[in-house]
Amino acid sequence: MDRAEIPIQPRFTEGEAFDVAIVGAGPAGLSAALILGRMRRKVLAVDTEAPAHAVSDGVHGFLAQDGTPPVELRAIGREQLEPYTTVEVRRVAARLARIDNDGFELGLGDGSTVRTARLLLAHGMHYALPDLDGVPEAWAKRVFHCPYCHGWEVRDQRVAVYGCSERAVHQALLLSSLTDDVILLCAHASALTPDQQEHLSRAGVDIEPRSVQRIDEHDEALRVAFAGAGDLRRDALFVQPKLELASNLAASLGAEMTETGTVATDDSGLSTVAGLYVAGDAATSVQSVAVATASGARAAYAINADLAIPRHRAGS
Ligand SMILES: Cc1cc2nc3c(=O)[nH]c(=O)nc-3n(C[C@H](O)[C@H](O)[C@H](O)COP(=O)(O)OP(=O)(O)OC[C@H]3O[C@@H](n4cnc5c(N)ncnc54)[C@H](O)[C@@H]3O)c2cc1C
Repeated sequence: MDRAEIPIQPRFTEGEAFDVAIVGAGPAGLSAALILGRMRRKVLAVDTEAPAHAVSDGVHGFLAQDGTPPVELRAIGREQLEPYTTVEVRRVAARLARIDNDGFELGLGDGSTVRTARLLLAHGMHYALPDLDGVPEAWAKRVFHCPYCHGWEVRDQRVAVYGCSERAVHQALLLSSLTDDVILLCAHASALTPDQQEHLSRAGVDIEPRSVQRIDEHDEALRVAFAGAGDLRRDALFVQPKLELASNLAASLGAEMTETGTVATDDSGLSTVAGLYVAGDAATSVQSVAVATASGARAAYAINADLAIPRHRAGS
């Protein structure tokens, strides 16, 4: 059977109360479900099965699974939850959450409601791509956002970085250890500080000041077309998507946010709302499967201890 199609049988009936509800069954949510299942906690993980990284050919830089396709990685995670019979993964969206006595009530996309003592948000982020023609078509094929995830795959190739922001400069500098041919497509070079210009120059990164009109795939490469005339051939382009929380559940419960738009938590994943934990991309500035997996496990340890020795009532 195709691993991506592994069915997880419904294990609980509507109206049941859970120890933990997890919103999002990606690396963070599945990792938490595994730890909690092993402690015989009654867990419901809900997932819309629309992860941002599904478009990618492989998860890179994840120990023991380097290059495994994202969907397969999740399927392995779900398969390994099978023995833990107190865990159910359900394909449905979490739409609403509210604090309810000493726990939470979660409204699901199928119209049902579940009660849970603790709530873990692991729903990840929405990646909003820059407004540049051609980027959506080439996303995750020749357009990338993360040098650690896809830099190795374009080593020694012709690479461009789109933008003048601090993140764009950072990406260009990181990529310069992988290839000698990095160009920063920055139409407002005056926006770069003297320090940035010096770092770029020292790293051998050229700055292209013409304004980019669109990109497209041409002759097994990317054609970067400039607004006036002329174009440039590159093998890959790096962009800086704007990351937004994939749901407003944390905000609706009154949780504090960080300046970068993730949910503020302590080291264990506990948000500013008692009983509400957040793991994975939704709670960190580093988007990585390894980091998300670790933070899901870390949150699960804290939640399990919190259930064993309750510190305070959820929501208070
Ligand atoms: C194109 C791309 C390529 C990447 N490549 C790599 C790589 O090579 N290596 C690496 O380490 N990292 C990579 N990353 C980053 C990595 O994918 C993320 O850091 C990681 O997946 C975050 O895990 P997560 O569990 O926090 O969230 P996600 O993996 O995003 O999972 C969140 C899940 O929650 C579900 N969900 C969202 N809202 C709801 C809701 N309201 N109700 C129910 N379910 C919901 C989603 O459908 C999704 O399945 C890549 C990211 C992208 C976008």
